[in-house]
Amino acid sequence: MKGAARLAWLGVLTFLTASTVAPPAQTRAAPCPDGGSNARVRAGVSAAHDPDALSPAQAAAAGARLDRIVATQHIVSAKKIHIPVYFHVTHYGRAGDVPASAVHRQIAVLNASFGGRTGGADTGFRFTLQGIDRTNDASWYHHPDEKERDMKSRLHRGDGGTLNLYSADLGEQLLGWATFPWRYRDHESLDGVVVHVDSLAGGSIEHYDRGYSATHEIGHWLGLFHTFQDGCAKRGDRVADTPPEREPGHGCPPAGRDTCTASGMDPIHNFMDYSYDTCMTQFTHGQSDRMRAAWAAYRS
Ligand SMILES: [Zn+2]
Repeated sequence: MKGAARLAWLGVLTFLTASTVAPPAQTRAAPCPDGGSNARVRAGVSAAHDPDALSPAQAAAAGARLDRIVATQHIVSAKKIHIPVYFHVTHYGRAGDVPASAVHRQIAVLNASFGGRTGGADTGFRFTLQGIDRTNDASWYHHPDEKERDMKSRLHRGDGGTLNLYSADLGEQLLGWATFPWRYRDHESLDGVVVHVDSLAGGSIEHYDRGYSATHEIGHWLGLFHTFQDGCAKRGDRVADTPPEREPGHGCPPAGRDTCTASGMDPIHNFMDYSYDTCMTQFTHGQSDRMRAAWAAYRS
């Protein structure tokens, strides 16, 4: 049985879907001043309701730091980067207690999406499962946002180059959230990605069941912004080959959507947009370079 806070959240969602009332402030802690993490939300939930979206100022600060590093760095694009993964299953009884086969399937999806086998660039990142642990705890499972520090400090393993991937019940709005690489040094145990258990590959959330919520969040974990960061502003997501877009691509927008005057169609098929999993296929070469630069700067 779900708690009162959870029921209140669901009630707010119903209201949100039908109107434009302010988001439920209780669902997530306030974002860190340095833009500590970022999230993916379901269709019908505005990006403005994404509790951890980066402000233009936060994106400018983080982007400028990485720009300086990129300018002085030689990126060897052909080199593979192997990332060990610890998968932390939180559950309450049978709820959320996904089998190992689901975890392996999700890892396969990561290797396909980051390997360019769904379309787009081969980023060179490869993921290897190191271990699965399981924690039966109702509060961790149902409220990983409120219990984040407790949960992660107990379960986190490895160093900055290790991916800690957590599954939990994130409710009716959030599909996942991630910490950015520049946050690692000061917040080691909080580093990682949390995804909705039902958004894993083969999960039960309609339109978000191919496992690309994890792909999207790991894109943040590797330093990428949303493709709609800063809207049509010149720098946008700080990646040259992802054309700017005024707003997220919720659902699966019609082909040829073009919301900014700058050249290029909106990147609605990019993993760093908000489109349905069924609409997402790719990272670009520019995003690949950006992730590799962030890796060299912050995680290697
Ligand atoms: Zn996101």
